[in-house]
Amino acid sequence: MTADLHIHTTASDGRLSPREIYYQAKLANLKSIAITDHDTIQGVLDLRSFTISGIHIIPGIELNTDITDYEVHILGYNIDVTSSQLITELDKLAKGRTSRAQKIVDRVTDLGFPIEYNRVLQIAATSKSLGRPHIARALIEKGYFSTMSEVFNSLLARNAPAYVPHYKLAPEEAIRLIEIAGGIPVLAHPGLIGNNALIIELIRSGLRGLEIYHPKHTELQIKEYLALANEYRLKVTGGSDFHGIPGRFPEQLGQFTVPAYLADKLSVSHA
Ligand code: AMP
Ligand code: FE
Ligand code: FE
Ligand code: ZN
Repeated sequence: MTADLHIHTTASDGRLSPREIYYQAKLANLKSIAITDHDTIQGVLDLRSFTISGIHIIPGIELNTDITDYEVHILGYNIDVTSSQLITELDKLAKGRTSRAQKIVDRVTDLGFPIEYNRVLQIAATSKSLGRPHIARALIEKGYFSTMSEVFNSLLARNAPAYVPHYKLAPEEAIRLIEIAGGIPVLAHPGLIGNNALIIELIRSGLRGLEIYHPKHTELQIKEYLALANEYRLKVTGGSDFHGIPGRFPEQLGQFTVPAYLADKLSVSHA
């Protein structure tokens, strides 16, 4: 039995709606999935209005945090989506993302790649968690670039000319917010941070798990992080970081999975 504990939907920068994710996960015979959108629980809420059967859906989130020079993302599992502190904070994050998207549109336009903010909003559709991928799609559509990584490398990545930060929590604040909402804070894709001293510092800030299995992790990193999880008594998680973007592995749910017992260990009764 398999699971996928890291999935994005159209509520953030994924291409499939929560309902499409549900159907695809059933087709792929997954036992459990976690919906972990960037800075939003809208996808989890949307799924609650459908009849779900034959699959366990873990309410989750992926919080981007504020730390110089690194992309530190904290996953939260089995969060209480009615937590008022969580809702208030997510609202602030969404507003910060909106004003940052407007600034990026101005910046790329000034740099000679004019796009319309309204087109970005159309691409983002129902998502209130505006991200760089929505802007990248508007730039590709205009024919300025052909792939997402080309846009990121040329304009949107950290240190690229149109990079604009948005309001974020510090890692320890993100960890605390997830705890307040009754969830389990887990460090997403430590391999993308690649700085073990920083990873240990983050663990000491209160993380309860490490995302060991991720499509971008090497065998060596997996071994190294398993040893860290063992040393610090952390839960082991993993997922595909599915976005449903053509050309970005995995293109389909079920192509990268983890054993379902890892999902079971995230339920509070197993804490
Ligand atoms: P944001 O939430 O606006 O900071 O955008 C972050 C998202 O952009 C990530 O979750 C990825 O989906 C995507 N992303 C980040 N770096 C790249 C890259 N180099 N190429 C393609 N997509 C990327
Ligand atoms: Fe993303
Ligand atoms: Fe991430
Ligand atoms: Zn992710």
